[in-house]
Amino acid sequence: MARHREAVCRLCRREGQKLFLKGLRCFTEKCAIEKRNFVPGQHGQARRSKMGGYGLQLREKQKVKRTYGLLERQFRNYFHKAERAKGPTGENLIVMLERRLDNAVWRSGLASSRAQARQLVLHGHVLVNGRKVNIPSCLVSVGEEIMLKPKMHGNTMILEARNVAQSQNTAPWLDIDRDNYKARVVALPKRENVQTPPFTEQLIVELYSK
Ligand code: SF4
Repeated sequence: MARHREAVCRLCRREGQKLFLKGLRCFTEKCAIEKRNFVPGQHGQARRSKMGGYGLQLREKQKVKRTYGLLERQFRNYFHKAERAKGPTGENLIVMLERRLDNAVWRSGLASSRAQARQLVLHGHVLVNGRKVNIPSCLVSVGEEIMLKPKMHGNTMILEARNVAQSQNTAPWLDIDRDNYKARVVALPKRENVQTPPFTEQLIVELYSK
């Protein structure tokens, strides 16, 4: 499966804000945004210029795409599906991205980042309603139960992720049972449930409407 291979902290520095791509490190002083909050590259410190119109729209699209770990074509496909669905396109887009299985695993505190959640899904460690699902882009629905396979329960990486998740805000659309490494989808995510990083999805709609 195609994925982004560039050093992920550079992506946050390019957008000038934390996108929380690296799990536990994002919450420490080692975070590259804390240490070097300027555009990467030789002339990075001189490049934070004022942007308008197209530049703003492009950066917003890149930010959302990178936050959810998607490549251009996958992202555009989500956008077209969001356009065809009922309701405001921008909102539909964010809700659809939130419903991805890798995102739901991360929101449930079963992984320390979306990238780690995607790895867990791809390697067959995640069960949905008791059955193995190894497709990170699969959309979860109300009533479904997401669970880590028992053999992963003692894993140090998972335990660390769980400890960090306990101190973070949880997703109200998930009923999380941390002791048993599982969560139930009790509602569809709403746009207002997604606050970090802040998205202005209308800019993406304007970009793709050109
Ligand atoms: Fe790196 Fe995480 Fe900081 Fe982004 S938020 S710069 S991924 S440590």
